[in-house]
Amino acid sequence: MELSVTFSEDALTEITIGKHGETAGISDAAFEKIPEAIIKNQSLAVDAISGATYSSQAILDAVADCVAQAGGDAEALCAVAVEGGEETENTVLADADVDVLVIGGGGAGLSAALSASQNGASVILVEKLSALGGNTFRCGGAFNTYDPDRQKDIPMTEALSSAVEKVLAHEDVSEEHAKLKAEVQEQWDEYKASGNTMLFDTPEWHALQSIDAGDYEGNVELVRAFTSNTLDTLNWLSDNGVEWTDQVSTVVGALWNRSHQPPNNSGADIIAALEKNARKSGVDIYLDSKAEELLMEDGRIVGAVITNSEGNEVTVKAAKGVIMATGGFSANVEMRVKYNEQWEDIGDSLKTNNSPGATGDGIVMGEAAGANLVGMGWIQLMPLNSVSGGGISGYVNSSLYCNKEGKRYVAEDERRDVLAAAALAQTDKLFYVVCDQKEAELRGLTQETLDYMVENGLVYSGDTIAELAESMGVPADALEQTVNEFNESVKAGKPDEFGRTTWENTIETGPFYAPSFSPAVHHTMGGLEINGNAEVLDADGNVIPGFYAAGEVTGGIHGTNRVGGNAVPDALCFGKIAGANAAKN
Ligand code: ADP
Repeated sequence: MELSVTFSEDALTEITIGKHGETAGISDAAFEKIPEAIIKNQSLAVDAISGATYSSQAILDAVADCVAQAGGDAEALCAVAVEGGEETENTVLADADVDVLVIGGGGAGLSAALSASQNGASVILVEKLSALGGNTFRCGGAFNTYDPDRQKDIPMTEALSSAVEKVLAHEDVSEEHAKLKAEVQEQWDEYKASGNTMLFDTPEWHALQSIDAGDYEGNVELVRAFTSNTLDTLNWLSDNGVEWTDQVSTVVGALWNRSHQPPNNSGADIIAALEKNARKSGVDIYLDSKAEELLMEDGRIVGAVITNSEGNEVTVKAAKGVIMATGGFSANVEMRVKYNEQWEDIGDSLKTNNSPGATGDGIVMGEAAGANLVGMGWIQLMPLNSVSGGGISGYVNSSLYCNKEGKRYVAEDERRDVLAAAALAQTDKLFYVVCDQKEAELRGLTQETLDYMVENGLVYSGDTIAELAESMGVPADALEQTVNEFNESVKAGKPDEFGRTTWENTIETGPFYAPSFSPAVHHTMGGLEINGNAEVLDADGNVIPGFYAAGEVTGGIHGTNRVGGNAVPDALCFGKIAGANAAKN
């Protein structure tokens, strides 16, 4: 981070942040509040902004450095007391009565709040961190939905057909599954008879594929409620200012060409639009406000106890319902270890790429209020967790994964659990995603960004594959052979030795790029059991009145393995459903 400080004789008068490598959006709250607090208090003892701790610390460290450069005493400034009470009056939550209380300000919470408000309810949303957005904010915003318009120019290949046939050939596992499969079979037969050569897709195929990818542990009815609402939700988001590019692709682990993305591949843009519209619609949003406990009266959830931004406990009564949208527990090592049934080691040895707010609070509060928990043992590792610091292509279509030996080791279009397990088995649990200039441009990266990443060592690069191999420190002949074989497979368009079926572009237009990756804890599939109306269920399958949940805090949709690009639509669809249903109470 580059930062400059202006001093008078005896004070810091201005702090200007220059070039930095912080993640846009995540660091915004720190950029805004920390310099202001330093100047106001003439102190370096300012508290870090929760959710942007590293950015906050970077600013404090850089200012301390400037103070030292100017001949001042940074240590003395660290000892100057900071006055509290910076919040303006209306941002501090007091006891309140409202129609709908939404707990958590990520994608699910904001979608729920907007939807409830648009359906006529008065709404309070509380977020425990200093910034909204949760994980939706941090991610690329990939949103899977069938979409006849955007998918119309994507060709169907032999390999994709074989993927459909394979899922349809699976034995029946339940009545609901058999029924869904029969519907897809009919659609598939009709499609083949029509002579259509473009991509096959329907909400039912999306549902069946998601069930298959989750090892048949997902709740079929719930998954259907999800996939039959994705396109509507996408359009609702568009009506509320969220932009989507015209191009769809297959993000990692997405298994099908139906991932939509905002123009800058930025979930932050989804959050910005939702926040703007939620506020415009009259939703009252309180940051630094943490829900501690649900309030129950005669078996109905009637509100919650919240610790407000001044550290005081207040009560919010919600006449129509409480919507839990607190996300998962990837950032809670203790809970990970307690529930994990999938991985040998899910403790401290693995990082998480989640928001620090993902500590499972809503699962604990919900369970205490009688909610049933489902699928808690299934935890997703994100194979593509950056080690070198840069990313170029999170897309499966035109990139290959290779290990330190310069060899491919997995079908890149596989499920995320398969990709993560395969990556953990490689030398140093490390792998590289190799792609070329054409792919980087296709994904909207400017030359300036690419040059920045190369110059700062965030990606390896080379004008030829041999030069790239040298920069990565892998054997050049092995990597050349790997890329040649990959290109042959692209041309053939058939499943290869690893079973990869998604082929698009060859890797042959230099310069070539390769960031490095290692898996991190990414998504917790389990949580509160809900039905298709986003109502929370108890252990007997009964609805708990007044209690709704949406997003990663819920379980039952993704089974053992969440399909890449299904999380954002899950959060936003069920947020919309929860908001509308709570408002109608
Ligand atoms: P989802 O994708 O389901 O919306 P996210 O993880 O993106 O989930 O967002 C959940 C949000 O809820 C995060 O911003 C997190 O900080 C917030 N949150 C978690 N626990 C609490 C709590 N106890 N009170 C208020 N907000 C919370």
